Amino acid sequence: SDLRRLILDRIRDVPDYPQPGVLFKDITPLLADPHAFAAVVDEFAGLHQVDKIVGIEARGFILAAPAACRAGAGFVPVRKKGKLPSETLEASYDLEYGSATIEVHRDAFAPGDRVLIVDDVLATGGTARAAVELVRRAGAEVVAIAVLMELASLEGRKQLDGVELHSLVIV
Ligand code: 5GP
Repeated sequence: SDLRRLILDRIRDVPDYPQPGVLFKDITPLLADPHAFAAVVDEFAGLHQVDKIVGIEARGFILAAPAACRAGAGFVPVRKKGKLPSETLEASYDLEYGSATIEVHRDAFAPGDRVLIVDDVLATGGTARAAVELVRRAGAEVVAIAVLMELASLEGRKQLDGVELHSLVIV
């Protein structure tokens, strides 16, 4: 589609970042293009009627906040451990080396809120899976996950057992 082309042409592959052997998908050229950025934000905003859109630190914030604003939904940050000021819930997940912990404010949602989770890239799926767990434990309903780009070879989709996933581009 046109949107897929618009995105693909504006994602830069950076070899060996952040570690040797990793081919990093850099979304900054997309963000710098006002037409492409707006098209992506509009696509996310139009996916589902929701009460809140969750953005995952840090690149998820850049996409989720304008999408929430556009959709008439609230924005909720999911952050790395230690960054949120009030009482939190936390979820940990395994990385290739070690583990990571993300948090959300306990009172971020009203009971039964319908929620869309947004991030830039779905890789192994660990981050998205942990975000789903957090939203549910905070008393809300995960309607779907949306990402700009899904790296299919890493099979992150399998981690999301059954949660609807919208990937604007699958590579
Ligand atoms: P996962 O938990 O699915 O393995 O990794 C996804 C998380 O790591 C996302 O929050 C995403 O921002 C980040 N990430 C992993 N690989 C890439 C990449 O190649 N490009 C970008 N922009 N983010 C990545």
